[in-house]
Amino acid sequence: MKRFIEGENRFQSTLFPESLEDYIAEDNSIRIVDAFVDKLNLKALGFDRAEPSDTGRPGYLPATMLKIYIYGYLNRIQSSRRLERESYRNVELIWLTGRLMPRFKTIADFRKDNRKAIRRVCTEFVGVCRELELFSATLVAIDGSKFKAVNSRDKNFTQKSVKRRLQKTQANIDRYLAKLDAADREEPEIREVNAAELKQKIASMEAKMEQLKAYEAEVEAHPDSQVSLTDPDARSMMKAGGGSTVSYNVQSAVDSKHHLIATHEVTNAPSDRSQLSSMAGQAAAALDAKALTVIADPGYYKGEEIVDCYAAGIKVLVPKTDSSWAKARGRYSKADFHYDAEQNEYICPAGQRLTYRFDSVEHGKTQWVYMTYQCSSCPLKSQCTTGKAKRIKRWEKEDILDAADALLKQNPDAMRQRKRLVEHPFGTIKYWMGSTHFLMKRLPNVQAEMSLHVLAYNMRRAINVLGVAKIMEQLQVA
Ligand code: SF4
Repeated sequence: MKRFIEGENRFQSTLFPESLEDYIAEDNSIRIVDAFVDKLNLKALGFDRAEPSDTGRPGYLPATMLKIYIYGYLNRIQSSRRLERESYRNVELIWLTGRLMPRFKTIADFRKDNRKAIRRVCTEFVGVCRELELFSATLVAIDGSKFKAVNSRDKNFTQKSVKRRLQKTQANIDRYLAKLDAADREEPEIREVNAAELKQKIASMEAKMEQLKAYEAEVEAHPDSQVSLTDPDARSMMKAGGGSTVSYNVQSAVDSKHHLIATHEVTNAPSDRSQLSSMAGQAAAALDAKALTVIADPGYYKGEEIVDCYAAGIKVLVPKTDSSWAKARGRYSKADFHYDAEQNEYICPAGQRLTYRFDSVEHGKTQWVYMTYQCSSCPLKSQCTTGKAKRIKRWEKEDILDAADALLKQNPDAMRQRKRLVEHPFGTIKYWMGSTHFLMKRLPNVQAEMSLHVLAYNMRRAINVLGVAKIMEQLQVA
């Protein structure tokens, strides 16, 4: 007999489980959310109203609100309105909150009022993962990714974009004025209709010009030379595949053992160049690492940052970028000169030795200058320098950069390893976020939002690696 699987009749009387507890299986991941939050000292973490007040209407326990948020981010329900809806109908959330159903405004205010404390909760879970030995604490990959802000490109103004829009608007005005001239040659009744329409368009374009000029003045006065109207902290940033987007630059340090995020940071710096030492230092602190090596892409290469990492006892694997003007113009760059550390001399492509001559200070950095007297008679001179003699400069701390280069050469697989490590966390989080990425405006709010995403990612990852029972054991023991 042909048939389908059929559901129960809605009017059939059934015996539901007697307690909410019976609905939640032993290996349900929300048990970890519950046990983890209950273990936290919310007052010490800085949560608002961690102690009940003597007067006024009693508020919700911060633990309840935090559980709602962690559950939401674990299950891709990030908006406060959706969380309110889920608290009425979602059995897991009902179990987690003990049937409390806060209004969406209360839920939204909790995230807004506890931004720093939420960030600390994320760090606390990294501590749990450390106790569970989920980190190698020896090798992390640092990477940055652009996450879209609540600000469209039309509402962002840079010097270049405002100039382009001014030119376009002026061109429109010129076009309408030319049409107005042409309309004068038409029949009177058509002329009047067309002229009125064109004058209206010209007036609207002139008003737009005035507005754009006001934005131009704002852009010029702004320290970052750009203005975002919807989220003033968001910045126009280049995308990896070309083009630009109004975003935040999210930095993360991913541990090599299980791809867990050791630490993260949300910035509005358009480039990664000044992030290395800060991220490496934060990762070392979060992992309590005694001997840490960090891998990063060439976008992080900056001498001062690498020197700071070595000063903090952190080794660095970052490929050098050769962006010299000489190379771009088809001449030898510094990379074509070999440094002889023993003799403190450079050997040029013609085999001549450039010896130390004098010091110079550039942008606060002491540079040693090397030269040879052989350049005037050198057959390679046109490929080497446009001056009388080639000068090679060496920063006084360049031996540290040479040590970093040597370490990279000993680890030829480092860049492939970096890619494997960083792609998983950012790919997963962006997939969870959907196409809109951040929901909140302003940097401190976005930082709290990202911390919840990172916490959810680490929690999900830890569950996948160890299972619920093992983590529960750790949370109940500690
Ligand atoms: S120009 Fe001077 S530094 Fe350059 S290759 Fe010739 S000798 Fe060497």
